[in-house]
Amino acid sequence: MADESLADDRYDVVVIGSGPGGYIAAIRAAQLGLSVACIDEHAELGGTCLRVGCIPSKALLESSAKVYDARHGFAEHGLKAQVEVDLAAMMKRKDKVVKTLTGGVRSQIKKNKNVPIQGRGRITGAGKVTVDSSDSKEPKDKKTGTRELTAERILLAPGTRPAPLPGVELDGERIGTSTEALAYSKAPGRLVVIGAGYIGLELGSVWQRLGSQVTVLEYLDRILPGMDTEIASAAAKAFTQQGIEIQLGRRVTAARRKGKNCVVESEGHDPITCDAVLLAVGRVPATDDLGLETVGIELDKRSFIPVDDAYQTSAPGVFAIGDAIGGAQLAHKAEEEGVACAELWVTGHGHVNYDAIPGVVYTDPEVASVGKTEEQLIEAGTEYRKGVFPHRANGRARAMGRVDGMTKMLVDAKTDRILGVHIIGPHAGDLIAEAVAAIEFGASAEDLYRTSHAHPTLAETLKEAALASAGRTLNL
Ligand code: FAD
Ligand code: AMP
Repeated sequence: MADESLADDRYDVVVIGSGPGGYIAAIRAAQLGLSVACIDEHAELGGTCLRVGCIPSKALLESSAKVYDARHGFAEHGLKAQVEVDLAAMMKRKDKVVKTLTGGVRSQIKKNKNVPIQGRGRITGAGKVTVDSSDSKEPKDKKTGTRELTAERILLAPGTRPAPLPGVELDGERIGTSTEALAYSKAPGRLVVIGAGYIGLELGSVWQRLGSQVTVLEYLDRILPGMDTEIASAAAKAFTQQGIEIQLGRRVTAARRKGKNCVVESEGHDPITCDAVLLAVGRVPATDDLGLETVGIELDKRSFIPVDDAYQTSAPGVFAIGDAIGGAQLAHKAEEEGVACAELWVTGHGHVNYDAIPGVVYTDPEVASVGKTEEQLIEAGTEYRKGVFPHRANGRARAMGRVDGMTKMLVDAKTDRILGVHIIGPHAGDLIAEAVAAIEFGASAEDLYRTSHAHPTLAETLKEAALASAGRTLNL
């Protein structure tokens, strides 16, 4: 028998997925006057980002950076300290951070009069979504365990899940993905990370700082594919100096348990025996069980949902955003799309400037980037000028004892417009915000170098890089 309260479960918008794409779209749509239900299979709202992505990884990076600093950075400042790691307490803190923030998303959703529904959502036809809430306490049809929703518009924001690798036998424990590596109960003696993208390097850094011997195996001849090569090379050098072993040109073909250990095989090289394996070779869209066939949506070759400029799929009334539509797999990219999509529905205007989406790797040093890389400009045949400012010439970096960074600015040779900015060094992820704003406003290098920057700050390296692009640095 259906619950009476479910008789007319009708919304202007039903959102599937409460990650940064889905929940932000839900909030913006509600602010614009639409009634919204936001479905997620997990009780905690906030998606991959809050549960097993951005937030828990940053919590562990913060905690482990303190350990590393106390052991390796204090002496230079005349400090002596003995630090002991209480991993259980560190994990508890991380869990608390996650809980506070997922709870915050739930309050925001409710404050905006959205209806959160726990369960697995599937499209069952035009304007129809069935939620399987059999595992949750949600109101539902008692016989089927489901709830039928009717929607004017359906927004798909299902995100991604870790990509598998043939031959790598995930056991959810010692051979796992980032999800397991965010919750090891003890630091593995030797950890092999497969893949030198940002997830592998961030979590590799965490465990290296907490005492593991970390080896990163990367198929390509460089780390951080997609990032500016000069900056990525500087990052590889810094990580190696910290004790992370990076082996390039290693195509991993298998990883399996062998007794108490794990063995990792790569083409043309001896197998490596280790205590744990972190598979971090990318993420694939979670688009396989959404009922897309019922409305005629076909996925692309890599299982992403094809959309047009207005995030409209091939089915009328069905939209998609976030990791599942391809492009940069970043929380803030998904958020921008969520806002643009909701605004397009109601106001007819909405836009994401994909040239101004920053990318940050929260290792130490941090790596941050926005706009074009030097390789992209060369490939496109764009005439550019380049300004590089090493942080060793920056007063604040000296005072911090962090002189290993650099700020690089790429500028259109004819118009002086800033095309790309790439930073490696402490707080690079915060510093890049100025470059994002500059690119968003179409600023020239001159606009930036004629802007006053507080002294002594790391932000001055942006001003100096802009000056360097014009061949007129003041402090180098
Ligand atoms: P998601 O956040 O993946 O949310 C989708 C939600 O939908 C999930 O909760 C999923 O369970 C649910 N769902 C899927 N299908 C259904 C269904 N049929 N019914 C009900 N619910 C469903 N990005 C950054 O910008 N900065 C970072 O520092 C960063 N760090 C990361 C670290 C790690 C370890 C990982 C794994 C990712 C990180 N990311 C980071 C990436 C970021 O998490 C994603 O880009 C972002 O979460 C994508 O948002 P989304 O809304 O598209 O999907
Ligand atoms: P990202 O997609 O940014 O998460 O990065 C994943 C990284 O894993 C990329 O640098 C890939 O080159 C790397 N990778 C993919 N397959 C393999 C493999 N079989 N062995 C080692 N590295 C791989």
